[in-house]
Amino acid sequence: SVALAASLAATSACSSTRDEPSSSTGGSASNLIGIAMPTRSLERWNNDGAHLDDLLKKAGYTTSLQYADNKVDQQITQLENMINQNPKVLVVASIDGTALGPVLEKAAKANVKVIAYDRLINGSPNVDYYATFDNYLVGKLQGQFIEEKLGLKDGKGPFNLEPFAGSSDDNNAKFFFNGAWDVLKPYVESGKLVIPSGKKIAGEEDWKTVSITGWKSETAQAEMDNRINSFYTGGKKVNVVLSPNDSLALGIAQSLESKGYKPGADWPLITGQDADLANTKNILADKQSMTVWKDTRTLGDQVAKMVDAIVKGGTVETNDTKTYNNGVKVVPAYLLPPVVVVKEDVKTKLVDSGFYTADKLGL
Ligand code: BGC
Repeated sequence: SVALAASLAATSACSSTRDEPSSSTGGSASNLIGIAMPTRSLERWNNDGAHLDDLLKKAGYTTSLQYADNKVDQQITQLENMINQNPKVLVVASIDGTALGPVLEKAAKANVKVIAYDRLINGSPNVDYYATFDNYLVGKLQGQFIEEKLGLKDGKGPFNLEPFAGSSDDNNAKFFFNGAWDVLKPYVESGKLVIPSGKKIAGEEDWKTVSITGWKSETAQAEMDNRINSFYTGGKKVNVVLSPNDSLALGIAQSLESKGYKPGADWPLITGQDADLANTKNILADKQSMTVWKDTRTLGDQVAKMVDAIVKGGTVETNDTKTYNNGVKVVPAYLLPPVVVVKEDVKTKLVDSGFYTADKLGL
């Protein structure tokens, strides 16, 4: 990424507008890139924003980086303010992927290009590109992890499974769930995975019955408390929890802890995603079994390249032009590969790559 920043900086140094301040309303002379992020509450978005902001600044762009506290209206206002400053490109990690149609129409009228960052923006023709990790594969890796750890292929079971899904306003949530469920569903059907809470996920939209709105840890914790209180009486134990990401996994682990589950003893398998700091520590402490790591630095690198190509009129690199139909069009996408991290590879994958220092993880 250092090399990329250097090469972007070298090319944009030719631009006479590289020192334009972000407050400028310099029309076509503006060199502004707007970056809209959903929330500071999950660590990954802080890293995402900071990294992309840094890359673009080093490449000579002026940036406006905004966080919206997971509030849809706030994000729309932020985007409107950015559009008023005549940016070249807006990079948007949406909160509600269905709520941005009108504001993106304003962007299109002002000739501002839009890159959907990590999450697809639905129902709008004014989404030019999409950069993300392979979301279906994230879920598939979680499902395959469960399949392998429990020995389901060898006929082991039955095990008690509690499934969770992400926020239903996030286009990614369905991809995550489907990826996992395509692996796990046959075992639910054969009775090797039993769902004591009685959640039935058979139809297309049924995953929404286990969805946690806003990806909130507290909501996941309360939901897990409820399921344990109501369905795990008489010594029945949860054996495995399908959690789509780390913020949910954190709440679920807190619930299990409060209900007396012990790591290394009766603690269930729990999946996750993001390699958030608290969760990586939980992995080291045997309170989470895995996380699907998405090296957000690589996503930033890719998006910075896209931005630069758009601004300079070059070819924007994509590698998937069929998966992400937003209801109006198929948005050309660049998909990056997610990586499974378990306790044994925290050091080799997360520390050796510089994602975390050993110190930060207490290693
Ligand atoms: C992202 C995940 C993240 C989740 C909650 C999803 O759209 O892809 O990485 O865990 O949102 O913020």
